[in-house]
Amino acid sequence: MSDDFGASVANRLLTAVPRAPLSAHCATLRGMWTDGLPRWFGEHGRHHLPWRLTTDPWAVLVSEVMLQQTSVSRVLPRWHGFLQRWPTAAACADASLDEVLREWSGLGYPRRARALWLTAGIVATAGWPDGEAGLRALPGVGSYTARALLAFSDAGIAAPSRPPRDVNLGRVAARAALGVEPHQVTPAALDSVLASGRPRALPMRQYSYALFDVGALHCRAAPRCDGCPLWRRCAFRAAGAPVAAAPRCQPSYRGSLRQLRGTILAAALDGGSLEPEQLAAALAGVPGVSRERVDEALAGLANDGLLPGAAGRGAAATGRTLRRDGVAPTATPTTRPARGSLRARRSAER
Ligand code: SF4
Repeated sequence: MSDDFGASVANRLLTAVPRAPLSAHCATLRGMWTDGLPRWFGEHGRHHLPWRLTTDPWAVLVSEVMLQQTSVSRVLPRWHGFLQRWPTAAACADASLDEVLREWSGLGYPRRARALWLTAGIVATAGWPDGEAGLRALPGVGSYTARALLAFSDAGIAAPSRPPRDVNLGRVAARAALGVEPHQVTPAALDSVLASGRPRALPMRQYSYALFDVGALHCRAAPRCDGCPLWRRCAFRAAGAPVAAAPRCQPSYRGSLRQLRGTILAAALDGGSLEPEQLAAALAGVPGVSRERVDEALAGLANDGLLPGAAGRGAAATGRTLRRDGVAPTATPTTRPARGSLRARRSAER
């Protein structure tokens, strides 16, 4: 079979994407673009990642939430620390939000910590929802995280039919199976090739991990094709030498509103003043800080329900209740489950 085969199939698929489902075409791709994956994963997969050694939904959720916007190397020590302190959702539900935010300090995007804490309270009360819809109703759990929970943990009743697709998996599938960058195809097309590309030798969980590892080690924004297990069948490579994508310009953290929010939150968790005047005076000289920016940061923190004490918690009531059957949640003020009911129903947690 020639190296042009992948590109030719991809071209046919691409022309078909807007007009017809890919399933028929994808059947022909099964075991093709992923041919080299099982053996490579066995030899080179990141099997040491500790969250791959557990199927406990709480441990998996903590890893997924931490990894949403933080690198693996930074998450590794923090995941262990978090789980040592709160090994179960019920344990985390017993903690105060301030404690959780302090533990989260340095990981960034503390809204994730608050969502995790809210989810802990719901799960400690009602148990883990059985399906994707119920999982998606948990605070901070979107489509990707829900599917990751189904694929990597024993939450839910069945593994998903395709891997949880994040940016990296989308990029690998778009390039290797279709010969394009992910923005050139529909999400449905990516899901379709991902679903049909699973080699029979790899269960869904291992298949997903293998593709994560290809994305992390080889098919990065600027591809490193040498040694890539998908190289032989890769439609992107067959369509022409992969060109390094222009590096994404990350907005500078220094002087950003995000940095200011982090500084204020850390000070507040240490018992510092939340008076705008005092904060602005204390932060005078810090790049980008002004009274208006302090007001903006405080308003954002309050709106996100992150400020300790009465100053912020009541302002951002976005918590949700969830029934065990995964029925769509109803918006309610952010209140933790009643202590009595939490303890009484804790056995429902998996
Ligand atoms: S790293 Fe290169 S060979 Fe591997 S999937 Fe990406 S583009 Fe294809």
